[in-house]
Amino acid sequence: MHSTCVISMPRNVISNTYGVKPPSTLDSAVVAIGIENTSNPVEKPWPKRPRRLALAVSDDLVDRIVAGQFPTGSALPNEATLCEHYRASRTVIREALQSAEALGLVRAQQGQGTIVRPFEDWDLLNPVVLAATVRHDAELAILDDLIDMRCALESQMAAHAAIRASAEDAEALRALYEATVSAADDPVAHLRADIAFHDGVARISGNRLSRIADAKITAEASRSMRYLGETTPDDCRQANVGHAVIVDCIAAGDPDGAARTMNEHIFSSWMRRRPSKPTNPRLEEFRKRHC
Ligand SMILES: [Zn+2]
Repeated sequence: MHSTCVISMPRNVISNTYGVKPPSTLDSAVVAIGIENTSNPVEKPWPKRPRRLALAVSDDLVDRIVAGQFPTGSALPNEATLCEHYRASRTVIREALQSAEALGLVRAQQGQGTIVRPFEDWDLLNPVVLAATVRHDAELAILDDLIDMRCALESQMAAHAAIRASAEDAEALRALYEATVSAADDPVAHLRADIAFHDGVARISGNRLSRIADAKITAEASRSMRYLGETTPDDCRQANVGHAVIVDCIAAGDPDGAARTMNEHIFSSWMRRRPSKPTNPRLEEFRKRHC
């Protein structure tokens, strides 16, 4: 029994930001970004190579830092070592380090090299940092945080939607709900319909910033099987029970009911598909308040 946003599907169904797995070495980076193309230099102009290579190196450094290969407070290998490891020029390595610094993962410190910053300083809104954090988050703490954020944003948007919805809005949302009902036997199709339904509520709310922030972060998490879990058609049907109440509350102009139901829907869906019991005290507190 599950609900929303939960799906059992192979990883390759959903591609990551660049459509490829983040490379773990320069060799794979070179393959991934297609640097070798001597037959048609016009298609792969030389001046772009260092920039793309620097991005690939930066992505790999992000992944290794997030994975804990370089603990907080430790120094990254020096430029010469990184040049050798990635078989890249100093220009490429410096640009990659600048990217990692811009993401809040490291800071250049006079006389000490490039130092890894604490987790709290990382830019989790950046897709590469967020994806790496989800990938290496065995405790699922970042996904618990994400659910907490979704509950806060989406319940508020559901309340606003109930206040603002026109008859046409309510009709359009009901059509999106019916699409989730039609897709219940196919968890992959249901995931798409579910995302469209939640976006429909966000659109009616009129809060463009909450809508885009919620959609971007949820889309990134949705590339992770840790977030999607295992979903059955029964789970999809359970989710649709919540969707039906949300539509009714919004159509009836009931902001409190819409907010409460959205909270319960998102939280209970996560509790059903979460592989282990949460240890995050904030989440437990949230459950007591809202469920
Ligand atoms: Zn849903």
